[in-house]
Amino acid sequence: MERAGSGGPEVYIREITDDRIDFILSHTDLSVANSLRRAMIAEVPTIAIDMVEIELNTSVLADEFIAHRLGMIPLDSNEVDRIKYTRDCNCSQYCSNCSVELTLDVKCTGDNTLDITSKDLVSTDPRITPVLAGPEDNGILIVKLRKGQELKLNCVAKKGVSKEHAKWSPISGVGFEYDPWNKLRHSRWWIEEDAEKEWSLFCINDLLLSHQNTKHSFGYPGQSAKTVNLKRSLLRMKHSTINPNQTNFISILRLSGL
Ligand SMILES: [Zn+2]
Repeated sequence: MERAGSGGPEVYIREITDDRIDFILSHTDLSVANSLRRAMIAEVPTIAIDMVEIELNTSVLADEFIAHRLGMIPLDSNEVDRIKYTRDCNCSQYCSNCSVELTLDVKCTGDNTLDITSKDLVSTDPRITPVLAGPEDNGILIVKLRKGQELKLNCVAKKGVSKEHAKWSPISGVGFEYDPWNKLRHSRWWIEEDAEKEWSLFCINDLLLSHQNTKHSFGYPGQSAKTVNLKRSLLRMKHSTINPNQTNFISILRLSGL
């Protein structure tokens, strides 16, 4: 237990991993909890692609579409303190003190469709690269190319906060509840007990199988619990290293009416 000050708010960290933290905040009021949530969303600086110069694009996606997708790719921001905001820099547009350049130069020459992902982006700074979940991770899909199609572009990544644009948001989701273990039953939210057991892909398949067998039920009691479970399943799958089965993923969305 860490005390921020005598009689002040207390933070107890229940779980912390590379991409997730779960903690109990106590001896304070709701406004402080909400302020923390808002600061996490909008005020922590990160690095994201801000400008894209497309030299050649013969893919099926429009330049603007690709530029938007590039902006959403999370970049490793551990070195963010080393980079200046462009507005505080002496340069006119961007320089090595306030930006990092990334390039993409790909062409499909084979008969099969070529997936271009964030892994294909080449950064001028090896410390600031697209985030990967591990060596097995193929990165985030940017565009698919067919034979003869080509994409060549330069990106400028800059430091920013998500108050300016959501692409600089350092988190994918943050929330809080009054009662961390839901003992007082203020809400009907289910609390996770065994992540592997409850949220593996097999669980999703069981869910679908159950639905097919019973037509009107997913095999879980309670309508709202079902919806909450599904939403959490989808969120978890999104951030999981397991590749979700796309067909099932879409089916769940449709079946549940989300
Ligand atoms: Zn500069």
